[in-house]
Amino acid sequence: MDARVIIIGAGAAGMMCAIEAARRGRSVLVLDHAKAAGEKIRISGGGRCNFTNLDIQPERFLSQNPRFALSALKRFTQWDFIAMVDAAGIPWHEKTLGQLFCDRSANDIIALLLDQMEKAGARLRLNATVHEVGQSTDGRFQIESSAGALTCESLVIASGGKSIPKMGASGFGYRVAEQFGLPLIETRPGLVPLTFAEQELAQTRPLAGTSVQAEVACNAARFSEGLLFTHRGLSGPSILQASSYWREGDALTVNLAAGSDVVAELSAMRTEAGRVSVKNALARIIPEKLAAIAVAETGLHGNLADQSNAALEVLGARVHGWRIKPVGSEGYRTAEVTLGGVDTDALDAKTMQSRSVQGLYFIGEVVDVTGWLGGYNFQWAWSSGWAAGQVA
Ligand code: FAD
Repeated sequence: MDARVIIIGAGAAGMMCAIEAARRGRSVLVLDHAKAAGEKIRISGGGRCNFTNLDIQPERFLSQNPRFALSALKRFTQWDFIAMVDAAGIPWHEKTLGQLFCDRSANDIIALLLDQMEKAGARLRLNATVHEVGQSTDGRFQIESSAGALTCESLVIASGGKSIPKMGASGFGYRVAEQFGLPLIETRPGLVPLTFAEQELAQTRPLAGTSVQAEVACNAARFSEGLLFTHRGLSGPSILQASSYWREGDALTVNLAAGSDVVAELSAMRTEAGRVSVKNALARIIPEKLAAIAVAETGLHGNLADQSNAALEVLGARVHGWRIKPVGSEGYRTAEVTLGGVDTDALDAKTMQSRSVQGLYFIGEVVDVTGWLGGYNFQWAWSSGWAAGQVA
């Protein structure tokens, strides 16, 4: 069962690459150890797959070399993928911030990719674990897999990162890179909930399940989206986004009432309805449990009418500038992506081919390119898969 091109991984990147390479008339075989193709697509976006974003910009990707992704992203754009989705008659909608989701189900995207693979003549072999790869002196790659020994001219590593090991994430691609002498950028979980030490949890645990519209700042990054208190710390889109920029020891500054001005609103209420308690007044702006904690922490007592401007300023600073130091993250178990990976310096930005090993390609999440939450990671998978598919 040899092929000219073997792609390891039938995820978003691998399937896109297979379609393109097979359309060029190459004989393509995709191997995946999972029972079904595109398992991460299936669970993505809450089952509706946030398949791209209208506003793809290089600043929304993390990498040692943020400009690396540009070439592929410009050659196969979000509009190109939207055109594929439209041509297949898949209904979609924009949810927020340019994020595009399927109206029906993520299965529509998987069906689209499988259909295009079949039409182009690419073969897919599931339940096939690749154990090892090697290269013979004539440059051909040899693959030892549970489906037997195979050889190919072009080997495309599309095996993803380390996130969600339960779903088959294996870190396999990093081992292949190391074996062939390609440098790696240290990997860590990204788009992941952050956790608190017991001391902070004693305070925040009663808030588990509470969500607010927040602005979260971490180092130079700032995200204005929802925030959710959990039993272990914080989650929600603003925290997932910030987590990709967070390192151990970093503090977050959280505005717990983004879009409101607590001091101005409380001052206005003080004039109109000063007999209400400070806590109940604040609870008109942020969730009650959170208001109770903020008021208790700042030591304010009594009615709103009893509070000086300075006291309201202290409360406002607590709500708009909560400083918190997470101790860790929930790790790869729940991370949506893996930061780091194959160093982009070792790859050609136009083709994704290794600069040192001819015929060896790395695409998708295994590469040191990680997008923000919001469809950016799938767009990277489509674009990098497409780029490799033009030449592999
Ligand atoms: P993957 O999709 O991980 O595919 C890799 C494939 O390789 C897998 O099928 C795996 O089984 C196979 N494989 C691994 N090792 C081997 C081996 N040794 N032998 C054979 N096969 C192997 N991104 C978005 O843009 N929008 C979203 O809505 C979104 N939602 C997400 C929700 C969740 C819960 C998660 C975890 C991620 C989400 N992401 C989302 C991120 C997105 O899923 C990934 O960025 C994307 O799937 C990466 O594609 P890939 O093809 O590089 O890797």
